[in-house]
Amino acid sequence: MKCKVCKKDKELRIGVCFDCAEAESIIGEGLDMWDNGKNGTKEPAKTAMEKLQLLIAKGWGKD
Ligand SMILES: [Zn+2]
Repeated sequence: MKCKVCKKDKELRIGVCFDCAEAESIIGEGLDMWDNGKNGTKEPAKTAMEKLQLLIAKGWGKD
């Protein structure tokens, strides 16, 4: 099965792979799948930059 977001062949939950589900959570809530926010705290990332920093810390970004 291919993830409907990244199109990669992965294990899916509701059509989306874990990495994309987590990115979606970070963009939407400012928290990852373990409810961690900015700098490893439970404080949600609020600004676009804080969310981006969280995503990059998770390995997102251009190669
Ligand atoms: Zn995906």
